[in-house]
Amino acid sequence: MDTFEFLESEVRFYCRDFPTVFTKGIGCKLFDEQGREYLDFFSGAGTLNYGHNNPRLKRRLIEYLESDSITHSLDMATAVKREFLERFNSLILTPRRLRYKTQFCGPTGTNAVEAALKLARKATGRQTVIFFMNAYHGLSLGSLAVTGNGSKRASAGVPLNYTMPMPFDGDLGANVNTLDYFEAFLEEPGSGMELPAAIIVETIQAEGGVKVANYEWLRRLEDLARHHQIVFIVDDIQVGCGRTGTFFSFEDAGIRPDMVCLSKAIGGFGLPMALLLIRPELDVWQPGEHTGTFRGNNLAFASASEALDCYWQDGAFTESILKKSELATRLLREIVESHAEARAWVRGRGLIQGLGFDVKGLAQQVAHIAFERGLIIETSGARSEVVKLLPPLTIDEEDLKDGIARINDSLEVALDRMDLSHKEAQVPQKVFS
Ligand code: PMP
Repeated sequence: MDTFEFLESEVRFYCRDFPTVFTKGIGCKLFDEQGREYLDFFSGAGTLNYGHNNPRLKRRLIEYLESDSITHSLDMATAVKREFLERFNSLILTPRRLRYKTQFCGPTGTNAVEAALKLARKATGRQTVIFFMNAYHGLSLGSLAVTGNGSKRASAGVPLNYTMPMPFDGDLGANVNTLDYFEAFLEEPGSGMELPAAIIVETIQAEGGVKVANYEWLRRLEDLARHHQIVFIVDDIQVGCGRTGTFFSFEDAGIRPDMVCLSKAIGGFGLPMALLLIRPELDVWQPGEHTGTFRGNNLAFASASEALDCYWQDGAFTESILKKSELATRLLREIVESHAEARAWVRGRGLIQGLGFDVKGLAQQVAHIAFERGLIIETSGARSEVVKLLPPLTIDEEDLKDGIARINDSLEVALDRMDLSHKEAQVPQKVFS
């Protein structure tokens, strides 16, 4: 790891949690220079939904490259971009009766969020954007202004203006509907809040600790937005593209956002790509108003189209995800029940599951020990209190069971190493998730 320590910036992050040099990835497995095998329950933070080097997607990419097809095109029209737009429309949008124009953004998630915020402000002529406590929407300035994490906000170096946080579902306890609070701000002429341009929300706060919004809460949030003509934006960057079972995480809630941010897994193969889906009436951009050099990753269009063809022609993939989700939930509940001293709980949907602990530092210990046991897994939450399971959606049941068994073993080792009656886990508190 010396090369990285000496030559790479201090900003490097994940390599500190997983200190080895990776060389190979196949399906849900990673391999390092020593030939050690790891189970990947992190999947590039929800990017590798179809696994590492998915053979069908890889074949399509190799054929694409070998045929001297276009790789870079700014946002010029290319055959493979047309193929992607048509597939996305026919396999994803039309069957769900969703009508969106697709904007290709710079290739990271945060750029799709920047585009959404700019467009909502332009379309409404208003400025304030409502976001939720513990939200994560990216780290460029606009996105950072709607991200909750205090230390990340502090890194901006300038005030993060024109946004306002509200409590997420459940943030004020089980008996408080946080939307009563938000509604009071909207309805009371003396509340001091100006009418917002937009609301941006994750249906599941993935970085925020796998906090799942209730469907009813989401529907009421949408109603409030509609009633006040506020643009309703869902950030589906981490939990879209099948992570919760359905293609979009909001389908079962029955809501229809005005804009949807997608990135991470949409490229299929881990190739950078980000989209903003826009209700056509809100598509008030002037040509080139949100432009950029890398808004046409043609290789990603090829693998993205192939992924849609391969997995989203019918409901079989969704069914398989939900089946594995049930298995994961059952096994995680068994862990919770058999380790009362860990004060643990489980929450999630589909194949994003969080195993949280009310014992300070325990989640980080578990993730740390899991790495020693060949499992790549991250923590999330404001206090890094949740072990977040994000296996590839294509994982088979045996590997899923194996990974969860390693979490169980790691928890037992972590509990053994701690004397819970006297002190809490001795790990430095990580400042961000
Ligand atoms: N939104 C959400 C919900 C995310 O999870 C992330 C990344 N973790 C982002 C936005 C930002 O994406 P990127 O890191 O590609 O800028």
